[in-house]
Amino acid sequence: MSPIATQLILWHKDHGRHHLPWQGSRDPYAVWLSEIMLQQTQVNTVIPYYARFMQEFPTLSSLAQAPLDAVLVIWSGLGYYSRARNLHLAARMIMQDYQGQFPDTRVILQKLPGIGRSTAAAIAVFAFNKREAILDGNVKRILTRYFGIAGYPEESRIKNLLWEKSEEVLPVTCRENQIETYTQALMDLGATVCIRHTPICKACPLQHNCVAFKEKRVDQFPTTRLRKPLPKKEAVFLLLMQHQKLLLEKRPASGIWGELWCPPEIKTGIDAASYCQHQLGITVQSPIELPILDHQFTHFKLRIHPQLLQVVSNTLDPHNKFIWIKPSDALEYAIPAPVRKLLKQNFLLDNHDTSNHLNTN
Ligand code: SF4
Repeated sequence: MSPIATQLILWHKDHGRHHLPWQGSRDPYAVWLSEIMLQQTQVNTVIPYYARFMQEFPTLSSLAQAPLDAVLVIWSGLGYYSRARNLHLAARMIMQDYQGQFPDTRVILQKLPGIGRSTAAAIAVFAFNKREAILDGNVKRILTRYFGIAGYPEESRIKNLLWEKSEEVLPVTCRENQIETYTQALMDLGATVCIRHTPICKACPLQHNCVAFKEKRVDQFPTTRLRKPLPKKEAVFLLLMQHQKLLLEKRPASGIWGELWCPPEIKTGIDAASYCQHQLGITVQSPIELPILDHQFTHFKLRIHPQLLQVVSNTLDPHNKFIWIKPSDALEYAIPAPVRKLLKQNFLLDNHDTSNHLNTN
């Protein structure tokens, strides 16, 4: 066995994480859900979402049968909503195309929406005891440091090299849960020891062979990309109030907040009252500017200018696209995190607290 695999398996016994809610199960559905939630999200944030999701949709078929809206409600606040949409779509595909049988190979798992090579490999390892290599962000960091691999890890040449290394250091067999323990140990080392800033090398089982550690160059790996400043976008959110209810609009399926509920949005510089009159059929009083809210996405920054508008008269036909809802009840809907924050800030909502400090008659 490779020195990495031997050392990690030994290390994991006393130092790895053994009590995460999705551990100890070979249920591919539970493994899949945890792996998707853990993409781009920390374990501590994932745990309560995972518990609620499993309570609401305990099986693959229950997820496949649920309306997407119900899935987005449970996902609301976790961010990266395409993950939830892909989970739902993949659940339906498995029910229809695979007769409800979860695919058990990495190659087929990778064909499902939202499942890349590393996630497919992790599911194949944890649910089906297959000998597959993973390469998530934590593993890229460990391998670049351990082998002293310079170059930006997302560049295809470096990424291919890292995949080769990840395969090269796998345990030779899958006997006695070796592959599962090894893979979990790799994830745990990246999350608790070989962390992004100031790794705890003195507690690392790999330090004797780690190039970055031996050469005192830990801070040089992984190579970072020179970051350009994030582009900035601005938008106006219209908080239309009538009889203490707020108007929310369902976003189109494509886009960052696809199928989520938000206040109507307009570009800055557009006259809000005129937009409401002509696009929504709603006459409003003069808008009141509310405090600006800044939100950062991976690829851009959004500055939200909220405006409170009291409705004078209203001929809007809601169809399925609009709802009038108490701001406190809106928190139970599938709304993105900045909208949740906006409602809490401006209506003093604290979970089920229905009091508000704005005059919203
Ligand atoms: S010795 Fe330090 S840099 Fe090298 S793998 Fe361990 S924690 Fe990471």
